Amino acid sequence: MVSRRLPPARNPDLWDTPLDDLFTKVDYDGYVSVRLKANCWEQLHRMVMAQHLGRPLLPGEEIHHKDENKANNDITNLVLTTKVGHPTLHREQREAQRKESLRQYRDLERQLRRKQR
Ligand SMILES: [Zn+2]
Repeated sequence: MVSRRLPPARNPDLWDTPLDDLFTKVDYDGYVSVRLKANCWEQLHRMVMAQHLGRPLLPGEEIHHKDENKANNDITNLVLTTKVGHPTLHREQREAQRKESLRQYRDLERQLRRKQR
């Protein structure tokens, strides 16, 4: 569950602002952003991770969405990574999905062969 009180990743002064008092929007790229003040938006997944860590995010730190759904910002769906490590997570996830698809295909093939006998 996302707590009602979220610390912006960059601005600890606003850590006690209730989420309901902030405006949110979905960016063109699917990320949810929260308005902290005029022309100052923070991505919700970064705020949730900063709250979880109890500190602002460091330069170069990035957040990965495990289910690749950018609207699912529950902490259980988020992984702290780095600008360098993030593409590796996506590569490993794609490879795991590829292997799972191949396994499902072979199962199906086996079932079809059994029926043809
Ligand atoms: Zn990612």
